Amino acid sequence: MPSKTRIEIPGEIAAQVQFNSDRTCCVCWVRGKPYQIHHIDEDPSNNDIDNLAVLCFDCHNETQLRGGFSRKLDAFQIVKYRTDWTKRVASKRDKEHGPSSLSRSEILTASVLRILKIEEKSNETGYSIDAEYPRFEPETSGSLAEVNLCIAAFVMRIIQPFRSQAIQRSNEKAELRKTSPSAAWDSLSISHRLSLVTDELLSMDFSAWTYNAGAAHPTRQTYTLTVQRNPPLEINPKDMFDKSSEYLHLLSEYCVGELRRQESDNGDKTIEKTKDDWILSGAGPNAKNYERLVLEGRGLRVFFDEYQVGCHAEGRSEVFVPVACFGQALTPSMKALLKLKEWHYQGSAVRTL
Ligand SMILES: [Zn+2]
Repeated sequence: MPSKTRIEIPGEIAAQVQFNSDRTCCVCWVRGKPYQIHHIDEDPSNNDIDNLAVLCFDCHNETQLRGGFSRKLDAFQIVKYRTDWTKRVASKRDKEHGPSSLSRSEILTASVLRILKIEEKSNETGYSIDAEYPRFEPETSGSLAEVNLCIAAFVMRIIQPFRSQAIQRSNEKAELRKTSPSAAWDSLSISHRLSLVTDELLSMDFSAWTYNAGAAHPTRQTYTLTVQRNPPLEINPKDMFDKSSEYLHLLSEYCVGELRRQESDNGDKTIEKTKDDWILSGAGPNAKNYERLVLEGRGLRVFFDEYQVGCHAEGRSEVFVPVACFGQALTPSMKALLKLKEWHYQGSAVRTL
């Protein structure tokens, strides 16, 4: 059998595959898990879009099963799973943002996007880092070059504390290696998701999965970055809103309601008091609770990391907040950057609890 050559998946195709799958494994649907783009026919040189599917590492392992009693996840099953999942993603998008809004694929084709990868591994100190982040090309204008630097620097700010801690712990890991070699390793894996790309603004979130040697489970932290393109400027969530506005109350009121709705499965279930208290404190009107948010086509998305509004097993929660809820509280410059004049928004659309 001739050996199969791997040809890098072109950036635009990779972007489309990930978009269609909402950067989520099409078999298990577990959001935020690190994933890879799988070649369904197992020919790594066949980068036809129909041959590609987003799979997490666990599900990908199931495609590699050989012999034994386990049933392998084969090409026919993957195609079925992918068709079903991408349909769900598209219909959810239409429901949340309206079919008329600029979809992410339209936005992405507006500029060429490359995904840069960092892979670093040290056997002596026992750690590994893999990270991926976007880079916009061509860098025809100086400002886009600066935007790219801003993104790269943001990722480095996540990597550096992990690396220095991993190096400091190398003696500890050497000890641990004697008893449980597989747990004597620190790892960091960073993936990203672009939520808004316009001529004026970029907004994205990064998920950093950290496993510290000896820990019971990995932890996930969310980092969000919003950049103004001209002139390049990082915009912190708190600076998007008018200081005199009640924006924290507007966001909190909406998010608490939405988290309660998610928890009760649309009201079918009553929420336990301890869980409700957890929501009220983790999503309360406090600036710290609203540091992790990204802009999207018709609103913004707030991330609540594990332990913020629920336990580790519940994982991260997200709430999409429509612009009608907070548009009036934005600063005049944010309204201009988002071209809000063209959007219809009014205070009365705020959900009541
Ligand atoms: Zn999976």
